Amino acid sequence: MGYLKQIDVDNFKSWRGKQTIGPFLRFSCIIGTNGSGKSNVMDAISFAIGERSSTLRVKHLRDLIHGAHIGAPVSRSASVCLRYCSEEEEETSFSRTINGDSSEYRVNGVQMTLSQYLKQLEEIGVITKAQNCLVFQCVVSPAGAVESIALKDPKERTKMFESISQSRELASEYEQKKNAMLRS
Ligand code: ATP
Ligand code: MG
Repeated sequence: MGYLKQIDVDNFKSWRGKQTIGPFLRFSCIIGTNGSGKSNVMDAISFAIGERSSTLRVKHLRDLIHGAHIGAPVSRSASVCLRYCSEEEEETSFSRTINGDSSEYRVNGVQMTLSQYLKQLEEIGVITKAQNCLVFQCVVSPAGAVESIALKDPKERTKMFESISQSRELASEYEQKKNAMLRS
């Protein structure tokens, strides 16, 4: 399974100028104090996979530009580039740039329409839906998604996390080693 290796942002929300988020491992956790920008990371991912402003916690796309939340945008544009790494360690970049309220989409630097872009994302298993998008088998959290995970049957929730972290694939090896240790 491929994974998100790095996110490059440029004047997106709390990041001023060009900055890098990551590199990430196949399974990563984001921790930080209130207001430190954890949800902005998820917003950056949601933005780059083509989500609309209504699911990005803003009224207009231009509100995503650094400084726009206090009425002082530092630029007319902002961008987010997702660097995806396939199982074969091949990198593909998916980027979205806004100029004012219009968006441009690029895969490996090649500009394309939104529907072509979404098709390319589907090829790596990223399927976006209007209100509830699946990203690398992980639910990005528009309203209600976190609650739906919390309300899952504990066994179902465990299965979901095992699947995301790939620990399921190591379960039988773990059991064998544990049993061997208990016998010795
Ligand atoms: P919590 O733990 O409360 O959920 P969080 O870590 O998820 O917090 P975020 O919501 O990701 O925090 O980030 C909020 C911060 O992002 C605020 O400090 C806010 O000022 C900043 N911010 C939001 N939009 C912009 C923007 N357009 N330009 C600059 N900073 C912004
Ligand atoms: Mg948050």
